[in-house]
Amino acid sequence: YNHSLQRTEKMKIISDLAASVAHEVRNPLQVTRGFLQLLSSRTDEKNKTYFDLATNELDRASDIITDFLTFAKPDLETIVVLDMYEEMKKIEAMMTPMASMYGGVLLFKSQEQLYFRGNSSKLKQALINIIKNSIEAIGSDGWIKINADTEGEEVIVRIADNGDGMDDEEVAKLGIPFFSTKTKGTGLGLMVTFRIIEAMRGTIVFHSVKTKGTEVIIRFPLIVKDSELPNEIGA
Ligand code: ADP
Ligand code: MG
Repeated sequence: YNHSLQRTEKMKIISDLAASVAHEVRNPLQVTRGFLQLLSSRTDEKNKTYFDLATNELDRASDIITDFLTFAKPDLETIVVLDMYEEMKKIEAMMTPMASMYGGVLLFKSQEQLYFRGNSSKLKQALINIIKNSIEAIGSDGWIKINADTEGEEVIVRIADNGDGMDDEEVAKLGIPFFSTKTKGTGLGLMVTFRIIEAMRGTIVFHSVKTKGTEVIIRFPLIVKDSELPNEIGA
């Protein structure tokens, strides 16, 4: 009689179930969001604020489900050669509005042609979770500097903020499910981020000083040889 085998199979069933429920719930949320936006374009300024609030809450629900889905099914379906420079441009476009909503500035700087292996949508999810934390940690004179470069045989991404920072005890708890210091936090964001980066053979390190700010350093193995590139790009 093998307990551990039984447990593994049970866990697989539970995580499959969780993943399909999460997936099914996300679709109606997206449809609702679409109708809200349509209604918002047909109403006065005062009502628009309510539509925006409703849309924001829907987005929050959607984000929680996305994290949850990755937790239940962390596999990266497709790994291809990515260029961090291109990924940075997409993330900049996505995150700049949120940063300015919180009164902070996002400052991006990236070398071109930073090739590494990964999954674009999962990478986005991982980096957005980190950047969101920075945005939530900064005040009205806050900045977040995001820098992508090479260092030795690695692609290195640094995300630094001048926000609340953390003490060593808090840093040690990062990535533990449900660890959150926020009233509206889920404590799932970094757990998911760690999983994704690990699956891409990357590493992540946090340096933080309470009341001063935080720096997150992420590294991926760099692909240097041109001969490694063809027929994998865009696959
Ligand atoms: P959540 O954001 O839902 O709280 P996360 O896993 O994303 O969950 O983060 C866990 C906790 O780590 C946060 O609640 C916060 O206390 C701390 N944290 C993460 N990043 C930062 C940061 N850049 N500055 C200050 N605190 C941070
Ligand atoms: Mg978070």
